[in-house]
Amino acid sequence: MAGTGNLSAVLKKKGELVLEDTATPLPEKNEVQIKMHVVGICGSDIHYWLNGGIGDFIVNAPMILGHEAAGVVSALGEGVTTLKVGDRVAIEPGVPCRMCSFCKEGRYNLCPDIIFCANPPVNGSLRSFYCHDADYCYKLPDHVSLEEGALLEPLSVGVHACRRAGIRLGHNVLILGSGPIGLLSLLSAKAMGATRIIITDLDQGRLDMALKLGAHHALRVDTRDPEEMARRVEEALGCKPDISVECSGAEPSIQTGIYATKSGGVLVLVGLGPPTVNIPIVNAAVREVDIRGIFRYANCYPRALEMIASGKVDAKPLITHHFPLEKTLDAFETSRTGAGGAIKVMIHCDQ
Ligand code: NAD
Ligand code: ZN
Repeated sequence: MAGTGNLSAVLKKKGELVLEDTATPLPEKNEVQIKMHVVGICGSDIHYWLNGGIGDFIVNAPMILGHEAAGVVSALGEGVTTLKVGDRVAIEPGVPCRMCSFCKEGRYNLCPDIIFCANPPVNGSLRSFYCHDADYCYKLPDHVSLEEGALLEPLSVGVHACRRAGIRLGHNVLILGSGPIGLLSLLSAKAMGATRIIITDLDQGRLDMALKLGAHHALRVDTRDPEEMARRVEEALGCKPDISVECSGAEPSIQTGIYATKSGGVLVLVGLGPPTVNIPIVNAAVREVDIRGIFRYANCYPRALEMIASGKVDAKPLITHHFPLEKTLDAFETSRTGAGGAIKVMIHCDQ
């Protein structure tokens, strides 16, 4: 199956996203070739497209976008015994070195040599055919759709955030920001036993979605005064949250997260905004509010899949828009502008 006919969404350089045929890859040892079915657009894809880079990751050469993906196994490389042709799989996009101390400790998301789809210079999976390490592909049960398989990627971020936060039965939780990551953190927090969840955003449409997904309170942010927002959180909840999960990256929102969290509680920073921000660090220090970062996820795909397969979590309402691969630019434009209440935009590669 080598040759052309592999339609791919290639970011040539900042602002220039084109569709073109690339060579169809053949699976190497321990890899599978996947006929791609669906790829969700992530904020980072939009960022690379519009800005040509994120932090130290700069697009210096053409790169295929996409990393929230699922498809059907179309060929096996040498040594693959765990999957067969025809299996429907979700693709965990980061493959670590498996050798370093982080990998050995199970914190493979921190591996300095991790190869991650659509992180320059590594190509992503928004194309017709793509090859990936078989052990980073997860076979989906028949009743789990490939779209849900693609959602396992951002859901894993939510699972990892809630694990790092230590969310357990009975916790009251504040989630700041109700984009896809905030909404999937909401679903994860609920599944892990949070009793009451309050969520914030600037946008009422996103808050409405949060309520639909089971948030108990939704607060629209209409002031840049973080102490005022923290007071409103406490008022709505009747107490300060045990745990806060920041999913916007906006400075005032991080500040609110600190002020709002109860003494001895935890604030997890998921949102990645400006590299340097002002935060009320003394307030956090003297109230023993633990501030923890997260980077993607490790060992979360199996748990996220279990949550979906068991019916404990229904993430499907997040999917608001569908486009064929040929209409990738329209899909990116819709995701960028949030037109039509867009939350998660899916691109179908095999229509
Ligand atoms: P998004 O941009 O779709 O959502 C962010 C939401 O925050 C938006 O709905 C926006 O209206 C809201 N917001 C903006 N300012 C706010 C404020 N002051 N208070 C409350 N809400 C505010 O992005 P997303 O895809 O949901 O991702 C969320 C963040 O998580 C991004 O910063 C992204 O870079 C980051 N992220 C981090 C990791 C990680 O590994 N740490 C992984 C994935 C995404
Ligand atoms: Zn490693």
